[in-house]
Amino acid sequence: MNLEQSFLEWLSGWEAGLPELELEKVVARPEQVAVLSVDLIKGFTTVGPLASPRIAGVVPAVARLFRRTYELGVRHFVLTQDAHTPEAVEFSAYPPHCLAGSVEGETVEELSTLPFAESFVVFPKNTTSSMLGTGLEAWLQAHPELTTFIVVGDCTDICVYQLALDLRLRANLAGRKETRVIVPADCVQTYDLPVRTALELGSMPHDGDLLHRIFLYHMALNGVEVVARLV
Ligand SMILES: [Zn+2]
Repeated sequence: MNLEQSFLEWLSGWEAGLPELELEKVVARPEQVAVLSVDLIKGFTTVGPLASPRIAGVVPAVARLFRRTYELGVRHFVLTQDAHTPEAVEFSAYPPHCLAGSVEGETVEELSTLPFAESFVVFPKNTTSSMLGTGLEAWLQAHPELTTFIVVGDCTDICVYQLALDLRLRANLAGRKETRVIVPADCVQTYDLPVRTALELGSMPHDGDLLHRIFLYHMALNGVEVVARLV
């Protein structure tokens, strides 16, 4: 018996069987809900070396979720997004991308053109972490009434994973059992870099489907509510 294969088979069945959650129930107390979008900027969707069609593909679902949650009364929309300095240490791991003030660093138009876009709270970041060196921790401390965090964006296995875990662990540390961190799988995605292409580029390969699935699982394993979608 090949245990590794049976786990991966189980994992793909787990992903296929993710439940749906009713959005109206999730945001029944809209003043206690925040939607956090990670890195839905042009540099990860349509412009530059890290743009990914897979990531661009979730933008319509995210924009729809923004509109629906707003209609249901949610008023906290937080965008954490790469705005790198030219000397960012991260550029030793990833090619230079999303410099502060560049087109790559702009919010995707599907979000920036929403009628309530002016109310977005935007936190620029210079690492994959939405917490480190941003104003997010202070913002969260200023909003202790928030109990439900819906996390969307990219990449499932990098910045989304880190933020979802940070929100979960922060609540765990504070003993806040009522806190929910929810990741709708149709609103998060990661990039794909096949082995052959990666070898040509001298980069590390990155299997988008597998890593998306594994990190959804890893978030669920750690108490994040991973669902197929919010309906
Ligand atoms: Zn970056």
